[in-house]
Amino acid sequence: MTSEGMTWIKANEKFLGEISDTIWGYAETGLKEYRSSAYLEDIFEKAGFTVRRGVAGMETAFVAEYGCGHPHIGLLAEYDALPGLSQAVSHEQKIYEKVPCAGHGCGHNALAAAVTGGGLAIAQDIQKGQVKGKVTVFGCPAEELLIGKGRMAEAGLFDECDVLLSCHPNDVNYVWARTSNAVWSGKFSFTGRTAHAAIDPYNGRSALDAVELMNVGANYLREHVTPDVRIHYVITNGGEVPNVVPKSAQVWYTIRAQNRESVQTLKARIQNLALGASIMTETTFETETVSDCSDVLRNKVLEQVLLESMKETGAPVWTEEEYRFAERISENVAEGLKRKAHSEYHLDGQVYRGLHTGIYDGFYREGETMAVSTDVGDASWRVPTGVFSFASTVIGSPGHSWLYTSCCGSSIARKGVSMAAQVLLRTAEKLYEDHKRIIMAAEEFKKEQTVREEMF
Ligand SMILES: [Zn+2]
Repeated sequence: MTSEGMTWIKANEKFLGEISDTIWGYAETGLKEYRSSAYLEDIFEKAGFTVRRGVAGMETAFVAEYGCGHPHIGLLAEYDALPGLSQAVSHEQKIYEKVPCAGHGCGHNALAAAVTGGGLAIAQDIQKGQVKGKVTVFGCPAEELLIGKGRMAEAGLFDECDVLLSCHPNDVNYVWARTSNAVWSGKFSFTGRTAHAAIDPYNGRSALDAVELMNVGANYLREHVTPDVRIHYVITNGGEVPNVVPKSAQVWYTIRAQNRESVQTLKARIQNLALGASIMTETTFETETVSDCSDVLRNKVLEQVLLESMKETGAPVWTEEEYRFAERISENVAEGLKRKAHSEYHLDGQVYRGLHTGIYDGFYREGETMAVSTDVGDASWRVPTGVFSFASTVIGSPGHSWLYTSCCGSSIARKGVSMAAQVLLRTAEKLYEDHKRIIMAAEEFKKEQTVREEMF
């Protein structure tokens, strides 16, 4: 029997596509998603959800709730764009673009639309009495800055949920069974004393020297860290002109490692470099944390439910027009990237004219750590969390690129949105109906947390 929610999604595909396109058009960067969040909040309010706006100290974060009691399923929405990615939809446009603007190079517009569709469809099921429980959609800002979910987790917003589900646009339909790197990002601001660089440099204490010495220290440190560690920095202030000793200078560090405990140890070592540099240069320094984000805690029980739902839903059926569009975009994807995607995802017979036509059957690179980080990690340590990727761009297309932006503004993404909303709905329906799986997910969550506690 088709559920009320499924009927609703099928009847509202155009509406869900409009949500994706509207947020794509707003293209607002982290913590500035004013129009995107207000637009989504209004949609949920109109659908009868209770909406709390501006939660966890962020104007663009929200919580939208429907139903009551348990099982209580939370859905994580994101809607931030990336600076400088532009909204160019063709190579020519990108080349001739004068002023690069923000763009949805990670497809969070489609992510938001899929989660909204899933949430509204689940509410239909609850309203019509087909399932019992509660659904909460969390509007999580600033994923690209790794800020939103960390602050929401700290505010305890996720804690009442039994499980959290989310999804992400990608080139391939697959369930996340990998973890991600934990990360700390912060700015070190040094203050010294200015002086004329030629007349009285002996009176100066250079803040830039401190930055440079700190960086030298970091580059020596690289030899004495585990291979999973990544250290990157940019100098955000290096003084104004060479003939004035810089009074202030700043360097911005991002450090990654396999888990948050290793990141905390590494952070202390990086802090020591700053301290050492400040002593050597007789300057002072302040540290400002930009983000502090956990690795993702997998949940195999939820991964299994998601895979079942994905296989039942099936991949989107692409039209001739979509294939033609995909072929044009695909010409700009490096052959090496296409080949890599092909072999890693075992895509033989599942790719046609640049688009994925199947579901990855299994758990891609199970248990490995992705080089990248996501603030889904912060949520996943509070409540059992499951995530999947849905095809919304061409095979091999790198994230954070104009190719991704372009596809996520097209009907390819709109098709992906409908599929992902259906997967979220199906997964939720299974969990509302079979409480055992929620209990198993909770047991696995506790077990994994204990393993981690014993490790450190
Ligand atoms: Zn993303």
